[in-house]
Amino acid sequence: MIKFPKKQSDLAEKIDNGAGFTKWRDWRWQLKHSIRSISSFETLTGIQFDKDKRQELEATVAQFPLSITPYYLSLIEKDDYQNDPIFLQSFADPRELVVQKWEREDPLHEDKDSPVEGLTHRYPDRVLFHVSNICSMYCRHCTRKRKVGDVDSIPNKNQIRKGIDYIRNTPSVRDVLLSGGDPLMLDDDYLDWILTELRRIEHVEIVRIGSRMPVVLPYRVTDDLVLMLKKHHPVWLNTHFNHPRELTHASRTALAKLADAGIPLGNQSVLLAGVNDCPRLMKTLVQKLVYSRVRPYYLYQCDLSEGLTHFRTPVGKGIEILESLIGHTSGFSVPTYVIDAPGGGGKIPIMPNYLLSWSPNKVVLRNYEGVITTYREPEQYHNPGCDGTCEECTLQLKFADAEERNAIGIEKLLSEWDETYSLTPEDNERIGRRNE
Ligand SMILES: *Cc1c(COP(=O)(O)O)cnc(C)c1O
Repeated sequence: MIKFPKKQSDLAEKIDNGAGFTKWRDWRWQLKHSIRSISSFETLTGIQFDKDKRQELEATVAQFPLSITPYYLSLIEKDDYQNDPIFLQSFADPRELVVQKWEREDPLHEDKDSPVEGLTHRYPDRVLFHVSNICSMYCRHCTRKRKVGDVDSIPNKNQIRKGIDYIRNTPSVRDVLLSGGDPLMLDDDYLDWILTELRRIEHVEIVRIGSRMPVVLPYRVTDDLVLMLKKHHPVWLNTHFNHPRELTHASRTALAKLADAGIPLGNQSVLLAGVNDCPRLMKTLVQKLVYSRVRPYYLYQCDLSEGLTHFRTPVGKGIEILESLIGHTSGFSVPTYVIDAPGGGGKIPIMPNYLLSWSPNKVVLRNYEGVITTYREPEQYHNPGCDGTCEECTLQLKFADAEERNAIGIEKLLSEWDETYSLTPEDNERIGRRNE
């Protein structure tokens, strides 16, 4: 006999006249009964809003749809719901309608770096492939609020084929990231088809899935799903836990199934004011993740998407959090803190400063305890250097295509085979005057 927490069985009763109790772990039942209106939220939780507040909430939901799975709703603790991290991430807030002038619909220019609809090609060797525009729960802090939640927008096979064709015709793509929306909103067969098509492309080495299902609808991770995913290895999965309270028994069971299927798991958190902007809380989160075999991968600074002002923290908060993690807990528990550059520059890692100074002989460093120390440089060092051809090099890996190697950015400035010695913005005024 499966035992349910009383809160969940009560909720199941209310939702589906008693039938829900037996179906609670059926992900389709959960989707079918997701909470999509202010009034059903009020009925199910007993939380009541006054008339003005309800009006504001309705206006918010009209702009950015609401959807909360019964499972995720059951995690809300009603006594102090205004500060509840589950409530804050899933329930509408009229402040979402406030737009500041530096906020954008698409701050990361994902649509501009899009060679075919639904696919963002930003980095040299990997693409972001949006295979779903829907989620089981709409995160209020979603960076893709502009698209997510459109009615019936799981792209059809023809649309998906265009993305797959692009990948097939672009040999530099060795890593495909299935994202959305939530790719696990697709049923197993559809996902199986996409993965099969991708696997038929020789240059696609790895496939990654970005999904919040382990957090908001862990019952989606069925035995059938993991059996299917296993066929397409190497498959990696990144999920999105933001608060230790989200690591429930059900979530940990889902994570264990994925890990047992040999799927390396990562987590991408977003730093959110009032939800997880606390060093102690973050330390608990990353430790619980690692305990569940999930490697904390990224901690994101909240993007400049429209309507996220109330979730944003100063960058200093993220640095303070890293300062409390690095050295204090297992190295693999520490995520990389990143700012996704507005305008499409990609993720930029941010770290506290550990390198204090240096001379030709020594570097001066400080550790997490504040100890200042030195590292002595080698007196002799033979730099293997690189002329880009591999011909003179003694290191034992020769690249047949060595001469085609094309350095980018700072790597280019450092390289010895490229003559470029400075990078200048296209609209530099001084250079402009020279050309006049
Ligand atoms: C985040 C992201 C990726 C993957 O980046 P990694 O640093 O490799 O995880 C790829 N494409 C886009 C557009 C992204 O935003």
